[in-house]
Amino acid sequence: MGAGLAGSVLAERLASKANKKILLLDKRNHIGGNTFDYYNSDGILVHKYGPHIFHTNSKEVFDYLGNFTEWRPYEHRVLASVDGQLVPIPINQNTINDLYGLNLSQQQVQEFFDAKAEKKDQILSSEDVVVNVVGRELYEKFFKQYTFKQWALDPSELDASVTARVPTRTNKDNRYFTDKYQAMPLHGYTKMFYNLLDHPNIHIMLNTDYKDVVDEINYRTLIYSGPIDAYFDYCFGKLPYRSINFKSQTIDSENYQPTGTVNYPMSQAYTRITEFKHLTGQKHGKTSIVFEYPTAEGDPYYPIPRKENTEIYNQYKTLAESEPNTFFTGRLGTYKYYNMDQVVAQSLTLFKKITLKKVAQVNGKDLF
Ligand code: FAD
Ligand code: UDP
Repeated sequence: MGAGLAGSVLAERLASKANKKILLLDKRNHIGGNTFDYYNSDGILVHKYGPHIFHTNSKEVFDYLGNFTEWRPYEHRVLASVDGQLVPIPINQNTINDLYGLNLSQQQVQEFFDAKAEKKDQILSSEDVVVNVVGRELYEKFFKQYTFKQWALDPSELDASVTARVPTRTNKDNRYFTDKYQAMPLHGYTKMFYNLLDHPNIHIMLNTDYKDVVDEINYRTLIYSGPIDAYFDYCFGKLPYRSINFKSQTIDSENYQPTGTVNYPMSQAYTRITEFKHLTGQKHGKTSIVFEYPTAEGDPYYPIPRKENTEIYNQYKTLAESEPNTFFTGRLGTYKYYNMDQVVAQSLTLFKKITLKKVAQVNGKDLF
């Protein structure tokens, strides 16, 4: 259930490697989950659910997806609009020199950070992560308000893992990611999904909420990649998710901004603007951009990493482990702030696990 990466990778593996018959359900009217992209009315390739940039250090994941798409090399770069300037984020040597009109060497940037850092004995929160390395001033300029807009929480109330996604550097590396493999599917994510799901054993039903049909279907095993709390009818309470309102625009000009994404960590209501042509490499006389306005209401896009939510999730996880023929996976099914590559890796691991004889049998009966 769920035709995003988690559900689709498992469908492909089980169909092609274990010769299983798969019924893939999704309540949306398209495959691809949150990675879905399409050509808008101006003929520009855009991502429906916000910018998706593929990056991974896993050769296994990169090679696996490479069976279903050619790649276009792409290294994402992001500028942050701070104090009236556009400066690189992650904070690095260029950021400090641009922001303060300095000409510091790498060594001097390290000394600059050391002089500003508020050293913490323990890194417990998303505030600690940043102030521990760069101090309060840069934290307030780049992280405090952006994080509040994104999560409606102060960074001190969020797990360290959230802002730890964005490193601090002393060199001049302006890239957003440093993973070994950084590339975009040459013809887009949706095309990659068509190839992934193109197997005679895979049948797809769109516009179908699994709850409406589950009692009508004879199945041996359910793989569930929707929100885990919904599966259990919220019996331990609702897990909080963050959503986003995406506001798109097409502009009658070839370019809009110098990099794929510009972050707005200060006063605007949106967090960032992305111009898709940087990501896709498409040549077009016009350009399409998207503004992201975070919100509590709407599709569940982001699990919110903090202790009280993990405690609720762990109750659902315990219940999930007692369901003999249902497997939970994906960003929503395991309530984890996972990137695409982590979801693919998780599904490949789950495939191996469920096809092992000892797991594939319950009470001596085959699960598949
Ligand atoms: P999803 O893609 O959410 O798929 C779950 C599917 O289940 C959905 O299609 C949903 O419709 C379906 N579903 C749910 N409930 C039901 C139901 N009751 N019945 C039927 N179907 C149901 N990752 C990166 O690596 N790089 C990025 O740059 C990046 N940018 C992102 C930007 C944004 C704004 C967001 C929200 C995420 C981003 N991600 C990025 C993360 C990426 O989207 C996820 O890791 C990945 O798409 C998760 O795949 P999934 O299959 O677990 O979930
Ligand atoms: N963040 C921030 N300022 C930035 C970029 C990121 O405060 O300019 C924080 C914010 O809390 C954000 C988190 O770091 O949610 C992770 O950033 P990332 O770009 O990885 O977010 P995603 O692409 O997943 O939305």
